[in-house]
Amino acid sequence: MSGSLSALLRALHEAHQRVHLLHKEIEESQRAVRRLEQQLAEREKQLRQLQEEIRQLKVTLHDREVTEKQLHEKVTRWQQQILGASTAREYQALQSQIENARIQLHALEDEMLELMDKLERRQQELPEREKLVSETRAELHRLEEQRRQRLEAIQDRLTQARADVARFEAELPPELRETYQRLVRQEPKEALAPVEHGSCMGCFTETTLQMLQDLRLNRPVVCKSCGRILYLIETS
Ligand SMILES: [Zn+2]
Repeated sequence: MSGSLSALLRALHEAHQRVHLLHKEIEESQRAVRRLEQQLAEREKQLRQLQEEIRQLKVTLHDREVTEKQLHEKVTRWQQQILGASTAREYQALQSQIENARIQLHALEDEMLELMDKLERRQQELPEREKLVSETRAELHRLEEQRRQRLEAIQDRLTQARADVARFEAELPPELRETYQRLVRQEPKEALAPVEHGSCMGCFTETTLQMLQDLRLNRPVVCKSCGRILYLIETS
């Protein structure tokens, strides 16, 4: 690169910033996919719960039907027995058994009606829930495809930005290298800062006249307050 040290440092700083922004963009798109994955998992879970509830309701309903059938059979049997009852006591006992069974049957039928009603309502919810899951799944698929294409473009720009960083780094004056390496290890985009209106834009501390003078003479200058490598933004 031809030109001043400030121009080189500025180009290097901007390349670091580009790398940082591209990384952020990658992370952001990963987060968006992850959010949708979580939403899909939640909706799938709700669907499974509904399917399980329907299954349980069917099992319970079947169980009650069996009990109802058995009770009916008992009542029929007792009704036949009552015809052949030999004593008033036997007659009374059977009569009371039949009466109790009828009360039970009545309660059982009420319960079954409730169960059937609930089962019907849950089954009506099912298509909506299934639709929600398949729609979310399709949306996730679209987003992932979009992200894949986006990533390819970002990767190209990232490769370019990294190549720029390497190219500008190679041109750094030897006396800056150690400081630069140390700063870059901490946070690359924070290694450098422009000086604007006589202040370091990294920490907003004023620079001395001597520092400005050195910068204009292409000498390496480091901010006394934050330690960043400084450069001038050339306006002409
Ligand atoms: Zn500073």
